[in-house]
Amino acid sequence: MLNVSHLTKKYHRFVANDNLSFIVNDGETAVLAGPNGAGKSTAIKCIAGLLRFDGEIEICGFNNKSIDAKKILGYVPEIPAPFELLTVWEHMEFIARAYRLEDWEKRAEELMSRLELTDKRDKLGKELSKGMQQKISICCAMLIEPKVVLFDEPLVGLDPHAIKELKAMLGEMKKNGTTIIISTHMLESVEDIWDKVFIMMNGKIEAERTRRFVEESGENLEELFFNITEKKQTGADAQ
Ligand code: ADP
Repeated sequence: MLNVSHLTKKYHRFVANDNLSFIVNDGETAVLAGPNGAGKSTAIKCIAGLLRFDGEIEICGFNNKSIDAKKILGYVPEIPAPFELLTVWEHMEFIARAYRLEDWEKRAEELMSRLELTDKRDKLGKELSKGMQQKISICCAMLIEPKVVLFDEPLVGLDPHAIKELKAMLGEMKKNGTTIIISTHMLESVEDIWDKVFIMMNGKIEAERTRRFVEESGENLEELFFNITEKKQTGADAQ
């Protein structure tokens, strides 16, 4: 479970996240949606414990900067940053050691095979294409069997097979009760997997919807998204 409470992040005077509060339960897939610059990556980096912020973030009840939280948190960044001089397999080994995993080899092989990295096993991080580097990030995040996992724009740059496989993995994790948070600027790319969506604009959550609400009300989510994100200044606003 993820509990974000009054998260505010400023870059000097610029407010990138403005008092965000939301909860994502076990087994729930939440989407942070919004155009470029809305503040999605900043929120995800704060949750991942990479940025200083005001407010509180709890991962399954643990403060997000605690070791207990870090042990159960997976993070797939928007821009992959593999170790240049580690091979694909050494990345798996590194994560396994850092997280003190046991009997991880079979799982690592399986993840690599599903994302078609097996034949790249001995390639160095720097020798791989961006898409392949992204696949390493996904394997590393999945290897620890996180209870909460963050994906920042995960589908951009992946090939169709990897997208299909990643969506299947997300479905399996959800069944196991994992809390999943995905950021995207393209709502349609996640339309078959979300349970809850937070539409962000200018650092704020402007709307929150559950799948059940949208299905029962017949609301057009895409229309809502564009109404919020393309809101033109009215005469009154402009004054
Ligand atoms: P998104 O992920 O929704 O595209 P970001 O969270 O990356 O949005 O960025 C939100 C806002 O914060 C943008 O206006 C961006 O320019 C600004 N921003 C992001 N990172 C920094 C930084 N390191 N320093 C200053 N401003 C930043």
